[in-house]
Amino acid sequence: MIVMKFGGSSVESAAALDRVTSIIAAHLPRKPVVVVSAMGKTTNRLLELGELAAEGQREEALEKLRQLHAYHLREADPVVPPSRRHELERVVLSHFEELEELVKGLSILGELTPRSKDAIASYGERLSSQILTLACSSRNIRATHIDAREVIVTDSRFTQASPIYPQTYARLQERIPLLLQENDAVVLGGFIGANEQGVTTTLGRGGSDFSASIVGAGLNAEEIQIWTDVDGMLTADPRVLPGGLRVKTISFAEAAELAYFGAKVLHPSTVLPAIEKNIPVLILNSRRPEVGGTRIVRESVPSRTIAKAIACKSHITLVNIQSTRMLMAYGFLRRIFEVFDRFETSVDMIATSEVSVSLTIDNPAQLDAITGELAQFSDVTVEKDQAIVCLVGENIRYTPGVAARVFGALNQINIRMISQGASLLNLGFVVAQADLPATVAALHQEFFSNPDPAVFEPAAGAA
Ligand code: ASP
Ligand code: MG
Repeated sequence: MIVMKFGGSSVESAAALDRVTSIIAAHLPRKPVVVVSAMGKTTNRLLELGELAAEGQREEALEKLRQLHAYHLREADPVVPPSRRHELERVVLSHFEELEELVKGLSILGELTPRSKDAIASYGERLSSQILTLACSSRNIRATHIDAREVIVTDSRFTQASPIYPQTYARLQERIPLLLQENDAVVLGGFIGANEQGVTTTLGRGGSDFSASIVGAGLNAEEIQIWTDVDGMLTADPRVLPGGLRVKTISFAEAAELAYFGAKVLHPSTVLPAIEKNIPVLILNSRRPEVGGTRIVRESVPSRTIAKAIACKSHITLVNIQSTRMLMAYGFLRRIFEVFDRFETSVDMIATSEVSVSLTIDNPAQLDAITGELAQFSDVTVEKDQAIVCLVGENIRYTPGVAARVFGALNQINIRMISQGASLLNLGFVVAQADLPATVAALHQEFFSNPDPAVFEPAAGAA
């Protein structure tokens, strides 16, 4: 048994849905449990029209609802066989009728509580999962639908609910294997669940990956496939350095490090339930199913290549803080971080000496206020337009001389700040934004010019 998860862009149109059913068809011998996101931008649309309704813009909200209804029918119709179109129309209509009631109710109440947000947002996945189930019959896949709210049991923190694992796993085990005995595939919506009273909840935005991981872990799946619109993880951000390599296998810790740097492939914490059970998670491209993707596994695989990837983050701000009371550094760090905390600005990378601290921030919105406060007990300088570059790989910690190779490769570039994370699987530094392409190119040349074929492959489309 495997779990196959398809994201919103993988089911955004008739063409996309058609690709998805063909991918499912190719995996039937492995008994797929399919987890699907809302079609395209449906979740955003639903929340927007919920807001409109609650603000009293009832007609605008209803108009947007009609557009969303038309969108679902238009894209679903071509992929559902004529014999089941009637069922499609009935299912879609009944969901939109309920939504209409909800919108009207919200416009009378004039408020959108977290609980009603979840109620309204849940329709995206409720629709997409029913539609995909019907679309499967066009390829003669015997698929059956299960409402995720019957199996994903959560707490009541609406819009941000957490699964209650023992109950969720028990329900999954009770329901799904039985359904798989009589069907080729089982389809359910991601993102949604219900609390113990049966009230609809959601796992937070982007929660379908989390759903897939929960389902996979609960059913002890062989593998969890996350189908997206990228080929997997690459050795370098293609916008900075085209022609990188695809990383075929990566450890969970390495993937987590990369994800932080905006490799927008998936949020690592969402796959934790799977990784804890040692279930591999594959990132695959629904537009190019033939590409092998990236396999995320619990332990790093042995490789003769030291690094797995170069991560980078553009346009960050470097803040240098020097204590004005030399050698009176007691409490200095606490005071600094208290300021960043108070202005809700998260700090990414830090390097310290006894009397100075350099750190980077991603979001400079509160920068003036922050520097104003810091200036009361320190000298502060700010450098904008900087970039973080990070060499990631579990082998870094076991290999002497990595830093020397990094600095050797970058001897033409001014490195502003250096930091090696406590995890020891990355070596990070800050350079001027203008130096970023040259920095990544030089590092890539140094560390990936002779890649281990067990782990790396030329990225599809690369020369
Ligand atoms: N549809 C939900 C969202 O857009 C969940 C997901 O796509 O993963 O946040
Ligand atoms: Mg989505």
